[in-house]
Amino acid sequence: MDIGKRIGSWPLLRQLTGRDLLGRGEAVQSPRSRDLTPRTVDADDVVSSVCPFCAVGCAQKVFVKDGQVTQIEGDPASPISRGRLCPKGSASKQLVTSPSRVTTVRYRRPHATEWEDLDLDTAMDMIADRVIKTRKEFWEWEADGNRTRRTLGIASLGGATLDNEENYLMKKLYTAMGAIQIENQARI
Ligand code: SF4
Repeated sequence: MDIGKRIGSWPLLRQLTGRDLLGRGEAVQSPRSRDLTPRTVDADDVVSSVCPFCAVGCAQKVFVKDGQVTQIEGDPASPISRGRLCPKGSASKQLVTSPSRVTTVRYRRPHATEWEDLDLDTAMDMIADRVIKTRKEFWEWEADGNRTRRTLGIASLGGATLDNEENYLMKKLYTAMGAIQIENQARI
């Protein structure tokens, strides 16, 4: 390439002399980047979703091909996040596709050193048995002469991946059971 052509291909010169004055398009593209195609172009479907990682609730577009999630990106239509995702949200595809994702119920018995898999029905029955037993054992009708009708034996500490609706339902459930210690660690 002769020197004139080489200087003419400098990104700064292209930016200053071309149509892309802000340097956000053609001025900063190399022949290689011009030939690249987004990994989302051959998606069969795009599903609207919400990032599950924290209470901000950034909107996501989930790209699907052959029934598999191929990419997750921010949704520019969202008035909350306007297309942006933080590094956690940008990496949330791994929540679905990571080979290390836990897809079975894992249980470690008291004093055991190894984890075992349980089927979901067994695990749900075990949880229900414990809840009923604990509620009965720690039920309190009165304290200091005041009617309390509560249990201090059950508490809930939610995580940031719970969304508004899940937290709402959990609060309803635990309150109905008489629990009063209901918290979430998200603080946004
Ligand atoms: S984790 Fe990040 S992308 Fe997800 S909702 Fe929170 S701020 Fe948004």
